[in-house]
Amino acid sequence: MGRVRPVPTRTCVACRTARPKRALVRVVRAPDGSIGVDPTGKRSGRGAYLCPTAECLRLAERRGSLARALGTTIPTSVFEALAAAVAASPASGPGPTAPSDDRREIDENLSR
Ligand SMILES: [Zn+2]
Repeated sequence: MGRVRPVPTRTCVACRTARPKRALVRVVRAPDGSIGVDPTGKRSGRGAYLCPTAECLRLAERRGSLARALGTTIPTSVFEALAAAVAASPASGPGPTAPSDDRREIDENLSR
C-alpha cells in the first residue's frame, strides 16, 4: 500500500539521465529504416530518447550516441528536426524542475 504510480522513465542517450518518458524527445527508427522525431511516442520501431535541450542534442550529435543507440547513421535532417523540437520545448534551457542530484549533467553542460 501507499506505492506511487510508477512513471515510465527512459534514459537520455546523451547525458544518461533517466527522466519520465514525456519529458524526453523520442527519435525512432521505423521498420523501413527511416529515422524521425516522434513527438507522440507512439510510432513503432526502435526508439532512442533525448532531453529536449540544446546541450544534449549537441552531445548526441558530436558523440554519435544517437546513431549508436539506433544502430544506424542519423541524417542531418533529423538533427534539424530535433533542434526545432528543442526550440519548441518549454523544457529547453536550464530547467527549474531539475532535481538537485542532477549535477553530473550540469558538469557536462559546462565542459563544452
Ligand atoms: Zn540529456
